[in-house]
Amino acid sequence: MTTGVFFNEIFSQKDWIIIGNKFQNFPQAMEPALKLASVKLFAPQKVSEELLLKVHSPRLVQDLKESWYCEGASYSVGGCVEATEKIVSGEIDNALVFTVAAGHHAGHNSAWGGTYASCAGPAFFNARQKFGEIRFAILDTDCHHGDGTRDIFLNDDNVLHVCFCGWNQVEGGGNKVCVDVGWKTTDEDYLNLVRQEFTPRLREFQPRMVLHNLGHDTCQGDYGDRGLTPEFFPRLVGEIKQAAGEVCGGKYLILTHGGSRADVAEYIFPRIIEILAEEG
Ligand SMILES: [Zn+2]
Ligand SMILES: [Zn+2]
Repeated sequence: MTTGVFFNEIFSQKDWIIIGNKFQNFPQAMEPALKLASVKLFAPQKVSEELLLKVHSPRLVQDLKESWYCEGASYSVGGCVEATEKIVSGEIDNALVFTVAAGHHAGHNSAWGGTYASCAGPAFFNARQKFGEIRFAILDTDCHHGDGTRDIFLNDDNVLHVCFCGWNQVEGGGNKVCVDVGWKTTDEDYLNLVRQEFTPRLREFQPRMVLHNLGHDTCQGDYGDRGLTPEFFPRLVGEIKQAAGEVCGGKYLILTHGGSRADVAEYIFPRIIEILAEEG
């Protein structure tokens, strides 16, 4: 088992929009986990402008280039592109990719909510260019609806997108699904909902890899509080890892998403790396 952790030093050096400076103590905060024999730390490259333009409009890319957070977003997307390629090729088994200023609110031509470039779009485009038409599953457990991800993949039959947000909806020929988790839930109820609404669809869809937008804004006391405890997040990862093990040879990529509590980030991410690195 080889687990890749993709982190650029710049992520810990700025106060990012929405998520703040929650990575201020990284990568030190995950030091013991990074010392595990099967864990490898990668410093990602910036995504190329050419690859961004395969997914986004020239106007969006121009706006991004003129913003102060462009560098952070570029390293985040670059990490996702690199990690996806390494997982699909079999160089690594799974990965935790840190992101700032990039993610699920970035669509073709508009972006908001702290995420100003798509991670999955360029990553899947690049992997398909190198390895052919690949099916991917996206699980989104951030508090908020992944509108940008939905926009980019709505008509892509080879992408399953299951988004746990605030309403129930099925669109895009059945593979684009939203699940209402309710304003106040519990760890157990949420996990049951994932078992009911994501895992069976994953089994049926048979993707090559699972990409997981893991926001912890749903944690008690955070800005998207849905009543979950910090323990919820490593438990969720354990379950998805097992499902990915059964369906797609354990190919599983986690992207950090929303959440501004630094203490929660420092608690969950080292544990998540340990779970990803466990054999079996
Ligand atoms: Zn969110
Ligand atoms: Zn949704």
